[in-house]
Amino acid sequence: MNQSEQLRNKKQATRFIHAGAEPDPSTGAIMTPIYQTSTYVQTSPGQHQGYEYARSQNPTRTALETALAVIEEGNYGLAFSSGVAATDAVIKLLAPGDEVIAANDMYGGTYRLFTKVFQKFGIKFNYVDTTIADNITAALNSKTKLVWIETPTNPLMNITDIAAVASITKKAGAILCVDNTFASPYLQNPLNLGADIVMHSATKYLGGHSDVIQGALIMNDKALRDELYFIQKSCGAVPGPMDCFLVLRGIKTLHVRMRQHCENGRLIAHYLRKHPKVEKVYWCGFEDHPNHDIAKIQMKDFGGMMSFTLKDNSTEAAMKVLSSTKLFSLAESLGGVESLINHPASMTHASIPKEERIKNGLTDGLIRLSIGIEDAHDLIDDLNQAIG
Ligand SMILES: *Cc1c(COP(=O)(O)O)cnc(C)c1O
Repeated sequence: MNQSEQLRNKKQATRFIHAGAEPDPSTGAIMTPIYQTSTYVQTSPGQHQGYEYARSQNPTRTALETALAVIEEGNYGLAFSSGVAATDAVIKLLAPGDEVIAANDMYGGTYRLFTKVFQKFGIKFNYVDTTIADNITAALNSKTKLVWIETPTNPLMNITDIAAVASITKKAGAILCVDNTFASPYLQNPLNLGADIVMHSATKYLGGHSDVIQGALIMNDKALRDELYFIQKSCGAVPGPMDCFLVLRGIKTLHVRMRQHCENGRLIAHYLRKHPKVEKVYWCGFEDHPNHDIAKIQMKDFGGMMSFTLKDNSTEAAMKVLSSTKLFSLAESLGGVESLINHPASMTHASIPKEERIKNGLTDGLIRLSIGIEDAHDLIDDLNQAIG
């Protein structure tokens, strides 16, 4: 039994810490070294130790890819130079004329990649509200090769029923890819619910310390893995060994960090909801959240991401809060140990046309929070003084 198979029977905390970590064969180093090399010496042409050239293979990346598979409960992992590079690789499975059904509420960079880069290569994207699984059935046709969902969504925290969508796509013979960045493998494992590919921006919770850009794909099917590996090495969007080392290290504390993100998230969501100046809080842990029942089934807890609007839903009022926090830093990104505050309309989601944004509920007054793992009461004090 190899290490990954042994870990499969272990509890999550054990898996996260030991995933991909085998003592280095040349020295016994307990941590996988950063193999900062571009090539590997062969004893005679074609005689090597499984490593030829670092775009194709690197031992630090191999350790990380093994870890990615273990933590997502899949058979194979592949690491990319960014989350969008991982998404890019999935779309390159398609050919001109193929169609994709994608969520109408997803990461702005994914939308930009689909509409501005791939549409002109003859791939058609149909955007639907995937929180209603029947919308996917209605949009399917014989050309649909891929269904792309994100849950919870960014930034409105909508929930899509992964198992329901997986059964629809399976019947249609299409691939289901789930962007699992917001939940992280601690909260949700889409492959176990029938998804074919899980995508992560490892930049966020997997790395966890706002110090690396990286992406990941995890899958069970060997043929699909081989196709995606071929794209990975042919297109070349691979992460460097230092970045792989950082994400490997991040994964070891993912469960501990996520528990705290969830606890702080719960306290802050309830605090905001009671605040007299707050109009609406978007957080899937509320019992009256439209898809709370599904969130409860497919997620272990509700995470540290949320958005809210003020009763004064003007851009000015939102801007005042955004520029008044002292602990929450005004920045794009999420999932790090430190708390961030963000204005989706002008920052993370600025690439989505305004009409499209407003139609989907992403108003100019919306404020997004990535709750870090500082003391929750200090965070609440900070929001309190900023909201006023
Ligand atoms: C950040 C993010 C991405 C893109 O990942 P990068 O690492 O920034 O390329 C994709 N999806 C979601 C949900 C994200 O938050």
